[in-house]
Amino acid sequence: MQKRKVAILGATGTVGQRFVQLLDGHPWFEVTTLTGSNRTAGSNYGENCNWVLPGDMPSWAKKMTVLQTALGLDAEIIFSALPSQEARDLEPAFARAGHQVFSNASAHRTWEDVPLVIPEVNSDHATLLDVQRKNRGWNGCIVTSCNCTSTGLTVSLKPLLDTFGIKRVFAVSLQALSGAGYPGVPSIDVLDNVVPYIHGEEEKVASEPCKMLGKLGNDRISFAKFPISAHTNRVPVTDGHLVCISIDLGRQIPPQEAIAAWECFAPPEIVRGLPSSPDKTIIVNQGADRPQPRRDRDTGNGMTTVIGRVRPDPIFDLRYVVLTHNTIKGAAGGSIQNAELFVAQGML
Ligand code: NAP
Repeated sequence: MQKRKVAILGATGTVGQRFVQLLDGHPWFEVTTLTGSNRTAGSNYGENCNWVLPGDMPSWAKKMTVLQTALGLDAEIIFSALPSQEARDLEPAFARAGHQVFSNASAHRTWEDVPLVIPEVNSDHATLLDVQRKNRGWNGCIVTSCNCTSTGLTVSLKPLLDTFGIKRVFAVSLQALSGAGYPGVPSIDVLDNVVPYIHGEEEKVASEPCKMLGKLGNDRISFAKFPISAHTNRVPVTDGHLVCISIDLGRQIPPQEAIAAWECFAPPEIVRGLPSSPDKTIIVNQGADRPQPRRDRDTGNGMTTVIGRVRPDPIFDLRYVVLTHNTIKGAAGGSIQNAELFVAQGML
């Protein structure tokens, strides 16, 4: 199979670098283009990208020139790691010009005809692309990944919704610094501290899971109908978002039943066969003090959702903790897996 040409927009940033790292040696995709802002455009990626990931920058990337983020890129598929403000106009322009855009930005997640996808949760929403192409007359498209805190939350809710139904969710996040990009939160604000506010985050966590857990019918998505009360906090951890969840299922269930639902959960076969899909979508770690970001975020190469501390809740019905690697499953890895899904489904 001939590899498809891909571009990474915002390749010098936190998520952009993850794309570079995860696309190194990818069996279906070949990176032909890296872009940045005016700050880095025209310069050599190896010299001007401040590589913050463990391990070396891939040698092919070191030699590339950072291009302007503008039309005329030599790539069929575009992975966008642009700030939302920049994505607002640029992503539709690329889609209009015939590129297949897989975005990490929040700018278009709420558009009715834009699929917001986690392959293990709602691969069936992919066909919303037919509606988007019909509505907008684009040859290209926009497909979005969700907010990094919504990722693990939504993966964990899916088996519970399917098995027991959900009435209400209460979620408190402890979010890593890399979630704020680079250089992100000033060290003087976050060392020896917790910041109980992340701009726009609680609104995203309250709505995005309900879109992904909703049903596609008559060319639109009916959102899942349960409220999510979210508190979002920035903590001094480098990578890995932890979310503490209490959930009203309408009845008390033994924790073992929830654990069984998570452990039996299997995504559709087409999703299991994607190059970036982990062997296990969800792992329940029954250690008394797990999951922990530093110890558990790389489970399944950062693509597995880790759940722990499953116990009864005296106010709601069940309590647990969920961990996601925010720049891998919660951003670049999830976006690459989305593109793989659309290729595998013959939609690109
Ligand atoms: P970041 O570290 O601040 O990187 C931003 C990137 O965008 C850099 O490559 C920067 O290029 C480029 N850029 C900035 N202004 C631009 C402009 N006017 N035109 C073209 N390029 C421009 O941010 P990030 O954390 O990687 O986040 C990228 C996107 O992913 C955001 O929309 C964010 O909300 C989303 N996201 C992030 C995470 C996460 O865990 N970090 C998770 C999910 C989603 P220069 O370096 O050349 O200035």
